[in-house]
Amino acid sequence: MKKMVLLTGLLTAHLTLFAEHRLAPADSNIVLKHYFASYTKKMNLIDTKLDLSFNWDSAFVYGKATLQLKPYFYATDSLVLNANSFKINKVTLLNGKSTDLKYSYDGSLLKIALDKIYSKNQVFNVYIEYTAMPYKAKLKNESIVATHGVYFTNHDPSNKDLPKQIWSQGETEGNSFWFPTINGPQTKMTQQITLTVDKQYTTLSNGLMISSKENANGTRTDVWKQDKPSSTYLTMIAVGDFKVVKDKWRNKEVSYYVNPKLEPFVKENFGQTPQMIDFFSKILKTDYPWDKYSQVVAYGYLGGAMENTSATLHGVEVMALNHDKNSLLQAESVVAHELFHQWFGDLVTCESWPNIPLNESFATYGAYLWLAHNHGREAADYDLLKGLSNYYNNPHFTDLTPIRFSLNDPDEMFDPVSYPKGGAILHMLRNYVGDEAFFESLHRYLEQNKFKTAEIHNLRLAFEEVTGEDLNWFFNQWFLQPGHPVLNVDYKYDETAKKLKVSIKQNQDLSKYPLYRLPIVLDIYTSGKIEQRSIELTNQSQSFVVNFPQKPDLVNINPDHLFVAKISDNKTPEQWVELFKRSALMNDKLTAIKNLSELKDNAMAQQFMLAQLNEKDWMVRSFVISALNKNSVNLIHDNLYKRLTEMAKTDEVGINKIIALVRINQLFPEQNNKALFTELANDKDEQVKTVAANLLKSLN
Ligand SMILES: [Zn+2]
Repeated sequence: MKKMVLLTGLLTAHLTLFAEHRLAPADSNIVLKHYFASYTKKMNLIDTKLDLSFNWDSAFVYGKATLQLKPYFYATDSLVLNANSFKINKVTLLNGKSTDLKYSYDGSLLKIALDKIYSKNQVFNVYIEYTAMPYKAKLKNESIVATHGVYFTNHDPSNKDLPKQIWSQGETEGNSFWFPTINGPQTKMTQQITLTVDKQYTTLSNGLMISSKENANGTRTDVWKQDKPSSTYLTMIAVGDFKVVKDKWRNKEVSYYVNPKLEPFVKENFGQTPQMIDFFSKILKTDYPWDKYSQVVAYGYLGGAMENTSATLHGVEVMALNHDKNSLLQAESVVAHELFHQWFGDLVTCESWPNIPLNESFATYGAYLWLAHNHGREAADYDLLKGLSNYYNNPHFTDLTPIRFSLNDPDEMFDPVSYPKGGAILHMLRNYVGDEAFFESLHRYLEQNKFKTAEIHNLRLAFEEVTGEDLNWFFNQWFLQPGHPVLNVDYKYDETAKKLKVSIKQNQDLSKYPLYRLPIVLDIYTSGKIEQRSIELTNQSQSFVVNFPQKPDLVNINPDHLFVAKISDNKTPEQWVELFKRSALMNDKLTAIKNLSELKDNAMAQQFMLAQLNEKDWMVRSFVISALNKNSVNLIHDNLYKRLTEMAKTDEVGINKIIALVRINQLFPEQNNKALFTELANDKDEQVKTVAANLLKSLN
């Protein structure tokens, strides 16, 4: 899943990009949270056959389900299924004939008494007739991904204008709102889904459509079959007035299901999918594993996008509909994220929700790999650094372990720790073991665990098998403990001895966070070149002496890694400017600008930042404009106001116009901004329009 960064979130992300990271005070009021274990496997759910029809007025799903099962290990005479907000009409055992089974149902669990004790080798089939009433269920969370499980887009009176669609959202435990099943990622099954709909509608589900026939009553019945096992939360359906745009990768169908009015945007948003499938298949040395790959665009979906097996669902808000470079890059990142899930999440699935980084950190890093391949490292870094700022800016996340068993609710796992921080951890792992070992290890992990589930230890073991090296230290400090290194770095050069001394201290609170073992690269800048030296930090406080023939212009630690750390060092303002100018890496530029923006009353720093607002690269402009704050503007006041006004009106990307508007409002409240806000409240970019209109309202 890719949770959508709504405009407000996006703004916060940008505007607080450089906010100081603070550790939360020690909390004496410790609450014991629920230990969220992997669900015990009592039954193997081998196959599910569903026969579904729909009532649009009541938003009911009429279902007939045939489940093929056998005990996982221990013999049993009972079967417990998740089934939320159903009316159960019939439960029978299909044993040549149809035998009624006794059951009890409390609105969420269907407990069935089998006719006898079954051992682990005895397969049986249970048939259930039911009506699912997803909108009658009590919802635990309406705000993010409300758990109806299946959605009738315009059922809610406030959504009457949305195109009429039905679509499902399984993750985390939504699918039991429309078919009886076993919730959780640990259960994998094959499936066949029969959908009967009014014949003007198109249907989509996982796998391949194996038959489609029109009925005498104006309906049509489509049958979709997926014969490779996949977790129950990855089952999906979509019904609507879709234009189907077809493409292919090798001999497999690649298709896009969109409302007809979105067809002109399909190529720009999804057109690179076959190249992405090819790229991922090659780097993983594991071909795309499913029968086809479809992407459907849904209305009313607030979850961003969801990687249902072979049939990803995107919320329409994720699509770029304005040809804006930033929106297109974000949309491309989401397409790559969901596609990478088809391997990491769908082919190999986290065994339990606490292991969700095995899905989400990989999907985040998959998008990074694609963007780096397609646009170069800068765009990939920009995308990941933007995500990481959400991790740094909220001290709460510092205290969360990526693999985390103390949870109240599995939905808590979908946060910047599982996504960008986890993605950056994978990048550090890649840097440590090298590209060849990294991709070989991923291949091994996929091969060993395909069509099954995995825990973080399976990933470590795959890396250890490939590299021959113990990696407990890496996985323990990064995946199984919270926090990140807080480093203080001091550089000194001894002219007489021709030695560079680098002293590093780990300042994180060691009662809460680990003491890190950190392989570090030093970039040593001299006139004309940048030389690298490797060191490894293992102590809380450590000095490294490097023989170096001349005094460096500047030294920078860990330039090439997207290093999850907070680093402060003793560079002069001139050296920060030098770093910004000479390093090609986004991370270095971002660090330099952040440090310059914190200097009080420094004319050189302020002039430099002002000049960078004319930088031709919109991503760099975006970081610079985000960094501006009261400290960094007093000596360039008039010229900055002029430049920000220009940017608000004419910057080529909407997000920069928006940040410029917000900065003007924050830093120049004494100016008469009414005319500017009024003008931009009529901008052609919808998001700019909304922000300008809100600012205008705040003036009145
Ligand atoms: Zn995801």
